[in-house]
This record gives sequence, C-alpha cells and structure tokens, in this order.
Amino acid sequence: MELYNSLIRDTRAFLENGSPKTWDYSERDCWKDIGSSELVLQKDAAYELGASGKGSANYVLFSSSPDFVNRDQVLLYGRDLREIRGDTDFARIVLLRVGVLDDDNEKVYRILKDIEFAKYHVYPEGYMVRMSPENYREQVRVSRQALRAGISFRSIGCSYIRAYKKDVNVLNATVIFVTAPGFDYAGMKATAKKAADITNTLTTIFEGLPTDCSVCSLKNICDEVEGMKELHFGVGASGTPKTR
Ligand code: SF4
Repeated sequence: MELYNSLIRDTRAFLENGSPKTWDYSERDCWKDIGSSELVLQKDAAYELGASGKGSANYVLFSSSPDFVNRDQVLLYGRDLREIRGDTDFARIVLLRVGVLDDDNEKVYRILKDIEFAKYHVYPEGYMVRMSPENYREQVRVSRQALRAGISFRSIGCSYIRAYKKDVNVLNATVIFVTAPGFDYAGMKATAKKAADITNTLTTIFEGLPTDCSVCSLKNICDEVEGMKELHFGVGASGTPKTR
C-alpha cells in the first residue's frame, strides 16, 4: 500500500521546521472514553481547536513501509491543551503502517475504509469532536472541567492509537497534533483532499470504471499518484478492471 507515500513525504515537509514533543504509546495513558458523543456546551468550553476562521486539517495516510511509519507514537507541534488560552489553529494527522495487503485490492480498500472509521469510535470525555469530511477540517471543543482533570494531547493521541490498533491490520499508528501558528494549514488541508481523492478513486476503480484514461475524469489524480494506474490495470483480466 504505497499510494499515499508521496503525501507522507509532503506532510514531513510541512513539519520539517518544527520540533515536536513526542510520547510513546501506552494504553495506560489513554483519556477516559465515555462511549458515545458528548455535548460540550459553549458556556462550559475553554476554547475551540480549529474553530471557524482558524486553520484546520484532518487526514489519515496509510503505508506498508516501515520507512514511513514504524512507531506507536504521539507527536505535538505547538502548545498542549493546558497551555492553550483561546481558539487556535489545529491539525490532526494520522500515519498508519498496515500489513502487506496486496493480494486482493478490493479487500484492501474495504480494510482501509474500516480502519479509517475507527476515528468515529473515539469519545474522550470533555473533548467534543466535530468533523467536516467535505471540508477536510476537524473542530474540537474542550471543556474547562477536562482541563482541570488533566487532559492532554498525549492522552488523546493514545486514545486514538488504541482505537486504530484494535484492527489487526494496523501494525503502527502515529498521531500528529499541530497547534502552533505559522504552519501551512492550507497545505495540510489540500493534502487531506488529495488523500480523500485517492480513496475515492479506489472506490471508483473497484466499481468498474471504463479504462480509457484519456476521457476519465480521474486522470489528474492518477497522473499525480504513483501506482494508481498500475493498480487499475492490474485488477481483473486482460487489463479490464474487475466489476462487482
Ligand atoms: S487509471 Fe485511468 S481509467 Fe483508471 S481511474 Fe485512473 S485515469 Fe481513470
């Protein structure tokens, strides 16, 4: 699964001038999960991450190469939750190393979607997440009570890693939080869109799209993403994509 590797390289480039705090994953450090979404009212909130008018980006990238992801780790570029004083820019980026899943591409696609959905099963107490998949943004309202109780990006990151690692295909998970000003949040958001484009193109391929690249509406994506055309024409017999 190397389709997303160039986006991991781009992500590293966005962050190369920062010096992150890092923590290894430990299940003990996970924040309390309340099992369903919680409404944090504005009057109880200390601030919002990635609020309207602030930079915001959220995406997941997959690789099967340990050169790209090889640790269960939380990284933070910028202030931690208890150091933030008001609404701030926010990105949450997840890098996942998955096992070699090359034998049945349609199955691989299903597995990737299942893994991605893990993010919808994390409900940290006092940390209300609102995702806008169509805008590639994530907005989080943090309660004052959670701050008093000691919530941190370390504990939230560990909660996400625990959720991703429930899937046996996930070998390593690295969760990156960015809150510092000056990072290229617009670039990260554009990367989030490209990641979604890759995943959506996989869907279209497995639904049996015609194979004439010259008239295909996905040509721009496939020209840019190394391995996409090979994946399409490698599916099914005689260069014809498999249909369901
Ligand atoms: S490989 Fe060609 S036909 Fe297949 S999705 Fe990409 S551009 Fe379209």
